[in-house]
Amino acid sequence: MDERANSFFQDDNVYLRSNDYFLRADGLTMHFPAKTDRFGRPVSWIHAADGVSFQVPKGKTMGVVGESGCGKSTVGKMLMNLYRPTSGRIYYDGRDITGLSARERRPYQQKMQLVWQDPYSSLDPRMHVGDIIGEGLRNFGLTSTREEYRERVFELMRKCGLFPEEANKFPHQFSGGQRQRICIARALATNPEFIVLDEAVSALDVSIQAQIVNLLKDRQQESSLTYLFISHDLNIVRYISDEVIVMYLGQIVERGTMETVFQTRAHPYTQALFSATPVFPPVPGGKKERILLEGDVLSPVDPPVGCRFAGRCPYATEQCRKEEPLWSRVEENHYVKCRLYP
Ligand code: SF4
Repeated sequence: MDERANSFFQDDNVYLRSNDYFLRADGLTMHFPAKTDRFGRPVSWIHAADGVSFQVPKGKTMGVVGESGCGKSTVGKMLMNLYRPTSGRIYYDGRDITGLSARERRPYQQKMQLVWQDPYSSLDPRMHVGDIIGEGLRNFGLTSTREEYRERVFELMRKCGLFPEEANKFPHQFSGGQRQRICIARALATNPEFIVLDEAVSALDVSIQAQIVNLLKDRQQESSLTYLFISHDLNIVRYISDEVIVMYLGQIVERGTMETVFQTRAHPYTQALFSATPVFPPVPGGKKERILLEGDVLSPVDPPVGCRFAGRCPYATEQCRKEEPLWSRVEENHYVKCRLYP
């Protein structure tokens, strides 16, 4: 397979622009064994992520969209060292942090935080919320006195729209939106520079989602935080992101600045995905017709060569099924992996 197929960086030097990225994933690949032989050796593999490459400048938000099972969360987990990539590199502020030992990784654990989808299960029900929020302060020794610790916890609570006088309550005494605020306060405690938000507002009511997203934006402006915002909700991604990547079956198929991708929707999969969700406010000049996809989703177990979307794509040709498409430049800072583009 042509190396260019999986990497923006090898594919188009224009994409590199400069070294202004803060976090960079280069060819991240994650394969899990699907089946083993009688000796326990894998004979087939689930391709959860294949050659995922992107970069996020400091203080910006990269949105990641796609159907469930497309590999969005796998990418977030590789960045957070919860999965060790099968191949590919992760660069953080210019340093290759792939495969660091636990000790070498520790300073990055402080700077990189993760907020999960489920605020119900990610909080220890037996701990006071003040102690939950202060966990990172204790783990990394970020305060020297008990008084300083208390003040910092209270400050984090205030910043995240919680009342310090509720620090001695338990998680079950808070609503879903407040619990997600607790999760965000806990993530902010270590003064992170980069946060992966994995469906962080998906479990919340729409009105609460807006409050949490505004909270995230405020904290980002204040501290130049860099976000990877993983979500299936296109409206929220549009509201918070500067750039967006669209994933399908473990691969990025389109990426660009948020408005160019929302307006142009170059890849046939992006067109179908976006047509299924009304976007508010409507994108000027955006396409409105609903596209219903036919055909089956390809299995992620040892997918064949060729375009992974070919089985559902209305424009698929024999060549699409035989050869993996390369990256094409649609316009400045907008790339698509499809044969329809020269
Ligand atoms: Fe469709 Fe071919 Fe483009 Fe794949 S490469 S999205 S099958 S036109």
